[in-house]
Formats: sequence, structure tokens, C-alpha cells
Amino acid sequence: MEKYKCKSVGIIGSGIQGVCIGLQLIKKGIPVTIFDRLDPLSLNFKSASYGNAGHFSPYAVLQFNRTDILSDVPKMLFSSYGPLALKWNYVLKMIPWFSNYLKNCNKKSMLHTAKYMHQILSLSNDAYEEIFKEIDTTNLIEKKGIIYVWTKRNLKSRELEIKVRDDLGIKQKLLTQKEIIELEPNLNPVFDAGVIYEGAMHARDPHGILKEIFKLFLKKGGKFIQDNIISLKQNNENQTVIKSEKEEYIFTKSVIASGAFSKSLTDQLGENIPLDTERGYHVHFKDMDHLISRPVIFLDKGFGMTPMNQGLRAVGTVELGGLKNPLSKKRIDYLIKSAHELLPQLKKPEDEWLGFRPTLPDFLPIIGPSLKNKNIIYAFGHHHLGWTLGAVTGKIVSGIVAEEKTNLDLSPYSSKRFN
Ligand SMILES: Cc1cc2nc3c(=O)[nH]c(=O)nc-3n(C[C@H](O)[C@H](O)[C@H](O)COP(=O)(O)OP(=O)(O)OC[C@H]3O[C@@H](n4cnc5c(N)ncnc54)[C@H](O)[C@@H]3O)c2cc1C
Repeated sequence: MEKYKCKSVGIIGSGIQGVCIGLQLIKKGIPVTIFDRLDPLSLNFKSASYGNAGHFSPYAVLQFNRTDILSDVPKMLFSSYGPLALKWNYVLKMIPWFSNYLKNCNKKSMLHTAKYMHQILSLSNDAYEEIFKEIDTTNLIEKKGIIYVWTKRNLKSRELEIKVRDDLGIKQKLLTQKEIIELEPNLNPVFDAGVIYEGAMHARDPHGILKEIFKLFLKKGGKFIQDNIISLKQNNENQTVIKSEKEEYIFTKSVIASGAFSKSLTDQLGENIPLDTERGYHVHFKDMDHLISRPVIFLDKGFGMTPMNQGLRAVGTVELGGLKNPLSKKRIDYLIKSAHELLPQLKKPEDEWLGFRPTLPDFLPIIGPSLKNKNIIYAFGHHHLGWTLGAVTGKIVSGIVAEEKTNLDLSPYSSKRFN
């Protein structure tokens, strides 16, 4: 007798969620095809999973649905030069997301998000370590910790973050300015204090890691089709149909792992999920990665720098502006200026990149079956932590597809909360 009822799976998206889900399913012996309009092995693959900051951040339980930052939001939005920006032509479209965000911006929701982010974040590194045993990670990963620095300006927020992490038993080491400079002597001391997550890992090349996982998926028998998917439906108990402009593909079950682009597919399934995007940017300072030994994030500025193989990646900021607006030069200038503030020795950067964080208004991802189409599984909305959560999402979603039992409480990640 065959072990699983599911005979085949189609996955839309070859970002880190898609490839990790594909890998776990193929390891169970279930045939899988991944679809993406971009080839993950090509230089054109510039999805969020390519350009992120590369932090594996199992400690990052607190998100932005917090009252302490709410009062600063209007001021930040009206300044074109800060960690948060808004494309004014997108304001009306952002209303459903924003009104839902306001509902979730209270202490109870903040702690709910922290608890259920912690549930999956605490499993995230082990899930990656399992995969890393099977791929060549030479020059792709470093374990030197991750440092966050700050000034005295928003100390209340810093104290809140430290307390919530302490309460959840997350290991953190507070640092004085002097201790930070001892660890990273090239930094300009424009900050007052900080924290280090000792032993935290970072990617020296997120795309390089994704490619290795994808190659392992192919080696184990997974299939990939480069195509732009325009629709998805469930025909009956045993059949889902993924459709592109030219082709129809049939699978027992399908997975939506299309990051910030998932909403155009879930809208077709009769669910009004308020997914939107927090746009983020990066530039590279070529051959400057030796200036710091580990990622350094400047919380006041909403940006960080990660030493990577492509150079020193200055990365971050949040821009609300949807999927269609072009890259904002002002955001790039902000990143460059902020990087020069921390490391005045930097010269001119290259490679301007805009990426799309997939974000839900309560800052929890959606992981689980569609409400009306049980054979279509959702795996998107991992916002600032989708890189960290790729491997564990792969394990959870493959378990859902295979109808395995789990000890995790998956109900907080269901799309039911928005319907
Ligand atoms: C500036 C920035 C910094 C970040 N830093 C970090 C960090 O340090 N640590 C961390 O954990 N996370 C970080 N993130 C978040 C993380 O990068 C994302 O959450 C994560 O990459 C999302 O992965 P994904 O697989 O869901 O989506 P994606 O990587 O966006 O992949 C989705 C894929 O689906 C494809 N697709 C979409 N629709 C279709 C369709 N209709 N047909 C065919 N293909 C389709 C796309 O082409 C894409 O390749 C950062 C994000 C940004 C923008």
C-alpha cells in the first residue's frame, strides 16, 4: 500500500518557501513540480529570497504590530528621509491592510504574534541544519553572531523588545558602545548601546544557498517549469489545476508559495486575505565586506549591513507602495547615507535592488489549507523573517500535504483569522 494519499503536488513559487517545501515533499517520495516565472538558477532571479539581509534570526519574535511605534508612524511617513516611507499613489489601496493593522496594534495581539512567531522561529535553525548536512555550504554561511545597535532616542522600545525576549527565554547579550567597538573596530560610534545574538548565523549569499537547496530538490527527482501562473482552482477531492497562459497542469494538491504575489491567486479562491508588501532595498559596496565581521543593524535607521560574497550589503528600510511602483531613488540614497554614517570609509555602491516582503497586518504568516479548497495549501506572508523561516515552513507544509499529525498548534497561522 502506498504511504500517502497525495499522488502529486504543484508549488507556485521557487523562493525559499517553495524550494524548501518541494525538498521536504520529494524526500517523502511525493512527486513535486515547482513553477516560477523566474529560473532560480539564473542571474535574473531577483526575488525577496535573493536580496534579503541574510540573517537567520530565530530571536526576532517581536514585530511591528506594537503600540510603542504607532505614535511615530505619521511623523515617519511624512518624512521622505527615514526608515519608513509611503508611495502616496498607493495610499487608498493600502487602506484594507492598514485598518487591519490598527486592529492588531495592541499589547494582546503583539504578544500573540510574539508567542506564535516564537513557536516556529525556535525550530527554524534545526530545520536548516538538517538541510545543510545535504548541501555544500562552503563560503555560504557564517556563525559569528548578529549585532543590533541603537541610540538613546527610543529606549522604551528597546526595553520592551529586551523584556519580551527575556520572558520567552531567548538568549541575548546587551553591549555597551565600547564593547560593540571592541567587536567591530571600524564602526563609527554614532550609537549608544546594542545587543548581540551570539552564535547567530548569517548567509554570505542567500541566492547561493537557495540554488544549492533547489539543485538538491532536482537531484532527488523534483521537477521545475518556468512559467507565469495566472490561475489556480480545485476541481474535486483529488484534483487541483494550475494554469498559465498556455498550459494547464493537474495535481492532487497545490501549494501557493508566491510570496508577496500570492494575493492574486487567493483572491480567485474566494478569500479576501489582506496580504500586502513592505518594500525593502539593498545596495552592495564591492570588496568592503572585510570592514565588519558580522551583520550590524542600526535600529534607529531601520537598516543594516551584512558582509556577503557580493560585497558589503546595505539593506533594509520599509516602503509601503505595492508591487507595481518603480524603485525609489530616495530610498537608495537613504540607505547609502545611513551606511556612510556607520562606516565613513565606504565609497560608492552598486547593484540597486528593490524587493517585496510579503506581509499580513498581524505579522504572522499564513500556513495551512485554503478555507474553501482543502487541497490548496497556503505558505506565504513571512514578512521580515521569510528567509529564517524557509526550512521550518518546508517541514510544516510538507506535513500538512501528507496529512501527518503534528504537535504544533497551527491554528494561529490559518487564513480563518481574516475571514
Ligand atoms: C530588504 C529585505 C531584507 C530582508 N532580510 C531578511 C533577513 O535578514 N532575514 C529573514 O529571515 N528575512 C528577510 N527578509 C524577508 C525574506 O526575504 C522574505 O520573507 C522571503 O524571501 C519570502 O520568501 P518567499 O519564498 O515567500 O517569496 P519570494 O522569495 O518572493 O519568492 C516567491 C516566488 O514566487 C514567484 N511567483 C510569484 N507569483 C508567481 C506566479 N503567478 N507565477 C509564477 N511564479 C510566481 C516569484 O517569481 C518568486 O520567485 C528580507 C526581505 C527584504 C525585502
